[in-house]
Amino acid sequence: MTETLIQVSYLAAAFLFIVALRALGRPDTARQGMQFAAIGMVIAIAATLLHADIISYKWIVVGLVVGAVAGYPLGMWVPMTAMPQRIALSHAFGALAATLVGIGEFGHGIEAGEIGRGHVTALGFEVLLGGLTVTGSLMAFGKLQGLLPGRPITFRFQNVSNLILLCAAAGCFVYLIAFTNSVPAFVAMIAISSLVGILFVLPIGGADMPVVVSLLNSYAGLAAVATGFAIDNNILIVVGSLDGASGLILSIAMSKAMNRSFSNVLFGAFGSPASGGQQDSADGEMSPIDPEDAAMRLAFADRVIVVPGYGLAVAQAQHQARELADLVEKRGGDVRFAIHPVAGRMPGHMNVLLAEAGVSYDKLVDMEDINDRFGEADVALVVGANDVVNPAARTNPASPIFGMPILNVSDAKSVIVLKRGQGAGFSGIENDLFVDPKTSMLFGDAKLSLVNLGNEVKSA
Ligand code: NDP
Repeated sequence: MTETLIQVSYLAAAFLFIVALRALGRPDTARQGMQFAAIGMVIAIAATLLHADIISYKWIVVGLVVGAVAGYPLGMWVPMTAMPQRIALSHAFGALAATLVGIGEFGHGIEAGEIGRGHVTALGFEVLLGGLTVTGSLMAFGKLQGLLPGRPITFRFQNVSNLILLCAAAGCFVYLIAFTNSVPAFVAMIAISSLVGILFVLPIGGADMPVVVSLLNSYAGLAAVATGFAIDNNILIVVGSLDGASGLILSIAMSKAMNRSFSNVLFGAFGSPASGGQQDSADGEMSPIDPEDAAMRLAFADRVIVVPGYGLAVAQAQHQARELADLVEKRGGDVRFAIHPVAGRMPGHMNVLLAEAGVSYDKLVDMEDINDRFGEADVALVVGANDVVNPAARTNPASPIFGMPILNVSDAKSVIVLKRGQGAGFSGIENDLFVDPKTSMLFGDAKLSLVNLGNEVKSA
């Protein structure tokens, strides 16, 4: 009876996870999607706690308390701009849990005298992917948090040595399947895969870390699938598969949005001379503008397209951007927000921020839909965006971002750029848009500039 209840609950949880993933695909249903996922997770945990194999709840309660105490601040207080590294840390924890379960299960098997071949295969996958994901995610966290150098750290024959190590781990795995009780093979597998995790992420530049984090998410999912097979738990198999597939799809989507091949991200050491990217610095002078003049242009514009970027997120200026848009619309102007798929530091970053500030979803327009409309815009207002509006991606084959799809801001009749100074974007390269004769630069923190613009538009 209890077992049936557990399996039915798992089915309900799996259904909620799938519905949640679907809802997460659109900004207007994403919040609801998270709620479905949370309810699904509560059901899955509660059902697991009914399991007949549990002999004591003491350590489970301790684990729940420690997890909740660590998880609450991570969820509530980490700023949106630091979300990629927070997610990397979560993957490290998830993969560590899978690896520890694998070690525990292997220990039980050894104690019991024998481990089945199928069982040890699942355990092998679990610790192989788990070990790699733990160290890889910690490296990604270190790079994104600035604790490790963000530039690609390369050495000669790195891809070859990684391949040799992977072959060594695979060799240990095969040995373990043949001699299922081999503790040295099991330990060697964990050690080698943990080392591969470090060596795999070190040569990848900070700019590509979100793609790597998403790929490691996929590995953590696959480790969970293996755990599910090892301990005969259906919900782990379902959730791990969803996680593994969605992580992989997201990594590919991000690579596409940057016009990079997946293998180039993983093995190309982007940002280093190895990527072959040489670029000319932008020639010409930037034309500064003061808030009064910029506000005049906005106040009398019929069509305005706001282009939010990472700087908007850093300045936490989403509310001020929405307020300014409301003021322009009150005066009869039409305002849209152009959303580039990799604006900011993680997929959907701009959608999440602007939705939180109350920008209605029909105002958020994806790159493909808005790019042809820049020509009709009287003003393109670029708020802390740089790489995603860099024309070099279209015009300069020597640029490291050449081929990346960009927002056609330079087609607008006039451009106003809000940024603090001469700082480069994430890829660290110059931007010709800023010295284009039709571009005016309003220097300063994005939030303050938007407040000033709002005040000036009010009194225009
Ligand atoms: P960028 O990082 O290219 O540029 C941000 C700009 O904002 C900087 O030039 C900076 O200039 C300015 N800025 C920073 N702080 C402030 C502030 N407080 N007020 C005003 N301006 C500020 O951002 P984009 O959004 O254009 O591009 C995102 C980049 O991240 C791309 O290269 C993308 O490939 C990469 N990336 C994104 C991923 C995603 O999923 N979203 C994943 C992987 C990579 P200054 O210092 O002069 O103010």
